[in-house]
Amino acid sequence: MSPHRGSLRRALLALVMALLGLGLAGPGQADLSTEPIPLPTPVDVGTWPEVRVLVHRGRSPVTVRSVEEMSVEQAGQEPRRLREILLPPEAARPDGEEVASWVLRSPAPLELQGRAYRGLLEVRLERGDLQVVNRVGLEDYLRGVVPRELLSSQIEAVKAQAVLARTYVLAHLKETTDLWDVRDDVSHQVYGGVTAEHPVSDQAVRETAGLVLTWEGRLASRVVFHSTCGGSTEGNENVFGTPPVPYLRPVPCLDQAGQPACAASSYATWTVEAPAQELGQEVGRMLGKPPLAIRALEIRQTSSSGRVTRLALLLEGEEELELQGDDLRRILRLRDSSGQVRNLPSTRFQVEPDCGDGRIRLRGSGWGHGVGMCQWGAIGLAREGWLFEEILDRYYPGTQVLGIAQAWPGAPP
Ligand SMILES: [Zn+2]
Repeated sequence: MSPHRGSLRRALLALVMALLGLGLAGPGQADLSTEPIPLPTPVDVGTWPEVRVLVHRGRSPVTVRSVEEMSVEQAGQEPRRLREILLPPEAARPDGEEVASWVLRSPAPLELQGRAYRGLLEVRLERGDLQVVNRVGLEDYLRGVVPRELLSSQIEAVKAQAVLARTYVLAHLKETTDLWDVRDDVSHQVYGGVTAEHPVSDQAVRETAGLVLTWEGRLASRVVFHSTCGGSTEGNENVFGTPPVPYLRPVPCLDQAGQPACAASSYATWTVEAPAQELGQEVGRMLGKPPLAIRALEIRQTSSSGRVTRLALLLEGEEELELQGDDLRRILRLRDSSGQVRNLPSTRFQVEPDCGDGRIRLRGSGWGHGVGMCQWGAIGLAREGWLFEEILDRYYPGTQVLGIAQAWPGAPP
């Protein structure tokens, strides 16, 4: 039986139960199949395609080292062989108009600012702006990404993350006229090169080599994920305000006992609070306005997954300010249990009734935007025996795991 017939069977079961008014007493239970599921075979893609990662940008010179002799190539010059180089060299320091570039290769990893990289480094100087790009094969790139995104002894959860990371970066490859495809930080995927590699994530990358997540036979280019959903994920439109993506639908994240599969996360539940006056100052600061005189918070709308989608800040006088979607996480800042002022962990919360002490208190669950795979939920499901493909099918309903060449227009014939 294919996993997708399995998910159809689960969907039908859920529908029948809903029609009978039974609800899903334990949706995790319905998902735990003991039937063997055929998995796609990992695909050997070698180092293709290449990913170009911006690993440094600044105005100061940088030193690159390698334990083996590296070759340093510069246009119009004989390649040099050495173990350490400062770039740009004194002679090429910016005079305002200078453009220069160097390509560094070595049989051993190249070290830059305490991190080591596979592949090669391309260093480009343009009017004093220095950019270092690591050009590395896709699978080697993933070895430096997956452990920074999710590392767990539950290998199936790590494999699910590897498939997502591969899918994500393929969807973000740019034209060859651009110097780089992705940054190495949270604005794309956190990448630590060889320094970040770990045997568990290496195994996850290897065992899913060349596999990507697809929707209707094409790359599922909108894959997003988050740390902890608190029991149900969220539709993208309720968070990002973008048109609904068919595979970014709210789904339950529950274990066999019907409890949140992400309950092991330290953000499974949380409480934050602050004096109303302090919250007013923080909100004013985030909006670039004077402090707001907040009286109370009033939830105006909640999504089907229990996330606040519209919240009113009731102000002194009759004024109010309404916040929507992910703006709530960006703008509301309160104190956590350690007393630190921080952004709201998630929008899955309730406002505590006014305790008359001038403080505003929220009780909630989850960490992150709630869309796509719940990483702690994936770990919880893997612990119950779910395979990576089943985990991805749960969090991205209707998708399919396929070999890269079947799903990506950039694949060579
Ligand atoms: Zn979850």
